[in-house]
Amino acid sequence: MVNNNKKPSPPKPDPDEDKKRREQMQRQIRFSIGYLIAGIIMLWLFQEFILTPMAIQATELSYSDFRQKLAAGQIVSVTISDNDIVGKMKNPDPSGSPAEMPFDTVIVTGSDPKLVEDLQAAGVKYGFQRPPSPAGALLLSWVLPLGLLAVFWYFAYRRMGAGAGGLGGIFGVGRSKATEVKAAEVGVTFKDVGGADEAIAELQEIIQFLKSPEQFARLGGRIPKGVLLVGPPGTGKTLLAKATAGEAEVSFFETSGSEFVEMFVGVGAARVRDLFEQARKAAPAVIFIDEIDAIGQSRAGAVRFGGNDEREQTLNQLLAEIDGFQTGVSAPVIIMAATNRPEVLDPALMRAGRFDRQVAVGNPDLIGREQILRIHSRGIKLVDDFDIGRAARMTPGFSGADLANVMNEAALLAARRNAEAVTLADFEAAIERVVAGLEQRTRVMNEQERRAVAYHESGHAMLAELTPHGDPVSKISIVPRSRGSLGFTMQMPTEDRYLLTVEELQDRIAVMLGGRAAEKVVFDRISTGASDDILRATELARRMVTEFGMSELLGSVRYAGQQLQYLGGAIEDSSNLSPKTRELIDAEVQRIVTEQYERARALLTAHRAALETLARRLLEQETLDGCAVQEALGVEEPEC
Ligand code: ADP
Ligand code: MG
Ligand code: ZN
Repeated sequence: MVNNNKKPSPPKPDPDEDKKRREQMQRQIRFSIGYLIAGIIMLWLFQEFILTPMAIQATELSYSDFRQKLAAGQIVSVTISDNDIVGKMKNPDPSGSPAEMPFDTVIVTGSDPKLVEDLQAAGVKYGFQRPPSPAGALLLSWVLPLGLLAVFWYFAYRRMGAGAGGLGGIFGVGRSKATEVKAAEVGVTFKDVGGADEAIAELQEIIQFLKSPEQFARLGGRIPKGVLLVGPPGTGKTLLAKATAGEAEVSFFETSGSEFVEMFVGVGAARVRDLFEQARKAAPAVIFIDEIDAIGQSRAGAVRFGGNDEREQTLNQLLAEIDGFQTGVSAPVIIMAATNRPEVLDPALMRAGRFDRQVAVGNPDLIGREQILRIHSRGIKLVDDFDIGRAARMTPGFSGADLANVMNEAALLAARRNAEAVTLADFEAAIERVVAGLEQRTRVMNEQERRAVAYHESGHAMLAELTPHGDPVSKISIVPRSRGSLGFTMQMPTEDRYLLTVEELQDRIAVMLGGRAAEKVVFDRISTGASDDILRATELARRMVTEFGMSELLGSVRYAGQQLQYLGGAIEDSSNLSPKTRELIDAEVQRIVTEQYERARALLTAHRAALETLARRLLEQETLDGCAVQEALGVEEPEC
C-alpha cells in the first residue's frame, strides 16, 4: 500500500470539461480564420508573381495605334479572338532588342470587317482563337488552387480536432502512437492466461463494469477507473490486460510509457490527450499503458538529468485526463497500466479515483505452470505420454514468458531431430538452453535450495501460529520472486494496531527469526537466506531499547539519535551517546534477539513433526494458504 500524503485535488467536474471544449473550439476557429487569410494572400501572390509573368508583359495598343502599325508594316503576326488581338510587332526602336515584342489590343467583334483583308494584304501571319470557355480559365486560376487549399485545411482542422493544437496537431507529433485493437480482433481471453487465478478474480469486476455499466451505476457506487498490474517481467501483465478487453469484448488501446517521453515539452502531454480522446470515441474500451514507470516516476525523486519538465507535464496531463473523464454508463473506459517497479511510481497516481486498484501478478506456482504449459502446448504435438505435471515440476521459478519460451524451444529441438512429437527429454534439453540464456533474470533453484527455503518459510509460518500474538498466516510460498527473495510468508493482521506491548514485539521478533531457527533445527546448518530477517529483527529490537524504553537495564530513556537526512537516506546521529551507553544498548539488543531466537528454536523442536509435514506439503505445492499451517499442527477445526 502506498500512503497518500498529498491532498487529493478535486476531480475535474463538468465545467472544466466544458471550458476545455470551448478552448478547443476557439483554437479551431482562430486557426481557420488565420488559415483563410494566409490562403488568400498566398493565392494572390501566386496569381501576381507566378501566373502573370508566365504570360510575358505585352504592350497595350489602342486600336488606332494597331491600325497604324499594321499600315506601316510593323505587325508580324496576330491571333484574333472574340474581344482582343494579341500578337507580335516589330520593336519601335529598329536597333533595339528584342527585335519583336508582344502586344495586345482590345477589339469588339464585328467592329472592323476589313481587318482580315488588310492583314492579308500586309502579309501578316494571322489566325483565330477558339472562344475560350470562361469556366476553364476560372477553374485553372481560382477554383483549383482554392480547392487544394480547402482540402489541406480540412485535414489540418481535423488533426487539431483530434487532439493537440498548434505544432503537435498539424504535423502529427502529438498523435498518440497507441494501436487500437477492435473488440472483435482482440482474440485473447482468460483461457489464454494460466496461473493467475487471483489476478483474474480481481479483474472480474472490471469486466462486469465494461459489459454492463448500468448495473454499477444503479447502486450509485463509484466506478473503477484505473487498474495497476504489478509484477516481474514476463508474468503476463500485458496478456492479462488484453484478455480483460477480450473477455469484456471491448476495444483495446495499447501503448507504452516510453512513447510519451519525448524531447519536446508538451508532446507527451498532447499524446496523452489524443489517446484518451480516441478511447472515448471507441468506448467501451480498455486503455493499456505498459511500463508506466517511464512517465509515472515520483516527481519528488532524485535529481534527474533533462526531460524533467516534459515528464512532469506528461504525468500531469495523464492525471488530469484520468480525473477528467467520466467513466460513465454511456462510455465506459478503463485504464490499465503495468509496471515492475511500483516503488518508483508517484503516489499521486495511486490515490483513490486513479490507479486505486492494484493487482499483483507473480511468477506461477506448480499448478499455474502446468496450466501455462498446457496453454502453450496447444499448437504443439506432444508425445501421448508427455507428463505436463512433471514438466511443471522441472521449472520452478520460471515466469509465464519463460515457460512459453521453453515449450517453443522444445518443439524446435524435436523438429531438429526429425521426431514425430515432442518428448519430455526435448523439454528438459530446452530448459537447459533457456536457463543458460536467462542469466540472472530468473532464479532457478536446485532441489537442495528448494528444501532449505521450504523449511525456512515453514519455520516463519509455524511461529506465527505458535506464538500467542503472532498475526495469522495468509499465504506461504516458495516461488522465487524477482527481487531476490526466494520465498515468502504473508501474515494478515486481524486488525490495525497502533499500540504494541513488549510481548507482541517479542513475538514478532520470534516470527522473523523462525526461518533461521527452522534451518538450524532441521539441517543443523544455517544459510545466508536469513540475512533480511536478521536485519529486521535487529532493527526492531534496537527500537525497543532506544525508542520504546523497553529495556529494564536502560530504562525509559530515549537513546535514539536524531534522524539526519543525508544524501537522500536517513542516518542515525548517535554522537551524543557515551561509549558505555552504546555498549549497553548493543548488549541489550543482542540479548533480546538471542532470547527470541532460542525461543523460536525451542518451539520448533517441540513441534518438529508439524514442521516436517508443512515443509513437505510446501515442497509439493509451492504455495499454501493459512489453513495448511493449522492443519499441519493438527488443529481440529482450522479457522482461516
Ligand atoms: P509482461 O507484460 O508481464 O512482461 P507478457 O504479458 O508480455 O508479460 O508475457 C509475454 C508472453 O509470455 C505472453 O505473450 C505469453 O505468451 C507468455 N505468458 C506470460 N505469462 C503468461 C501466463 N500467465 N499464461 C500464459 N502465457 C503467459
Ligand atoms: Mg509487458
Ligand atoms: Zn525468512
